[in-house]
Amino acid sequence: MQSNNSIGLGTDKDTPLYTIGVVAQLLEVSVHTLRLYENEGLVIPFKKDSNHRLYSANDITRLKCIRDSITNKKFSIASIKTLYAMIPCWSIRNCSEGERENCEAYNSTMNPCWTFKHSNNLCALQECRTCDVYKEHNHCDNIKETIKNNTRQA
Ligand code: SF4
Repeated sequence: MQSNNSIGLGTDKDTPLYTIGVVAQLLEVSVHTLRLYENEGLVIPFKKDSNHRLYSANDITRLKCIRDSITNKKFSIASIKTLYAMIPCWSIRNCSEGERENCEAYNSTMNPCWTFKHSNNLCALQECRTCDVYKEHNHCDNIKETIKNNTRQA
């Protein structure tokens, strides 16, 4: 997972504003649950120098989708990670054949690309929290659409 030491200011929706306590209240979950999702790689909150976490509106959208998948669709955390692992990041980011061969994320079916440490490819220089591959999949149920779009372009 890449570091996220700079505030990813893009749109207002990406600005980290909400503390973990506020988000927990909003989603009616415990702080422990939010930390679990983070540890499992489902969400990457912004971390301040003090190590306190802040969440953006987009992070909250992501967490709502995760909660809905778990509570209503009965997905496990492992299932959601597998779904995220299906995002064709190598196609979105135009990785070369050589980069794909040596990329753990490309070869994994169990974990999202942003949970791996990248040292010798394009991702080594990209902060995952601000990467489109991560940001544009707040809705864990839009991944099929991404696959379709990228298959058409192949
Ligand atoms: S594709 Fe983007 S989100 Fe995935 S590991 Fe690379 S930089 Fe991170």
